[in-house]
Amino acid sequence: MTAGRLFVISAPSGAGKTTLLKRVMADVTGLVFSISHTTREPRPGERDGVDYHFVSRAEFLEMIDKELFLEYAEVHENLYGTSIDAIGAQLLDGLDVILDIDVQGAAILRAKGQPEATYIFVSPPNLTELERRLRGRGTESEETVRVRLKNAATEMNAAGAYEYLIINEVVAEAANLLSSVILAERARAHRLPSGKPISKIVINS
Ligand code: 5GP
Repeated sequence: MTAGRLFVISAPSGAGKTTLLKRVMADVTGLVFSISHTTREPRPGERDGVDYHFVSRAEFLEMIDKELFLEYAEVHENLYGTSIDAIGAQLLDGLDVILDIDVQGAAILRAKGQPEATYIFVSPPNLTELERRLRGRGTESEETVRVRLKNAATEMNAAGAYEYLIINEVVAEAANLLSSVILAERARAHRLPSGKPISKIVINS
């Protein structure tokens, strides 16, 4: 069995990434979601250990000290991080893991060069639409909305560093595109399910 592959997905807050990811997880088999740790408060309906591992700042700092994170970053005034535990076992089981992380976390992973990953950026059609979606969610205070909008412009500038760009205008179309990217990456010659490089395959005629 080959080890699973990492898909790093970033987007400004309100780009519709969570909705997209839910659709793609339902469409594509063998895909799991890495559950991050965060110091932010849970939103209504969010569950500890499902959406995030919600921890205090002190607990998070202790995890940093113990080098338990593959990457972490301060995003919108809270700490977020991917623990090594969140992905290790799943990759070894041959599952592909989705990392929903911000542009700083993605840059850290890129700089580390390991593990090999596919980088995908999800963008809203424009910043006006982003603001409309962010306010429409109704889960954030006005101050939080402002912080997230301010950060969105910076985050959009990082899109060029990603291998794929998905513009989320019509959710169904964007979800199809994202699923296609994942399937295409799986089909790449160097990642045959058998684990053999393509040059080793002999076609019997
Ligand atoms: P939210 O608070 O809306 O759930 O997430 C805010 C931002 O934090 C999003 O851009 C999300 O991708 C990012 N984020 C979530 N988990 C992680 C993580 O483990 N590491 C990093 N670097 N960013 C994360």
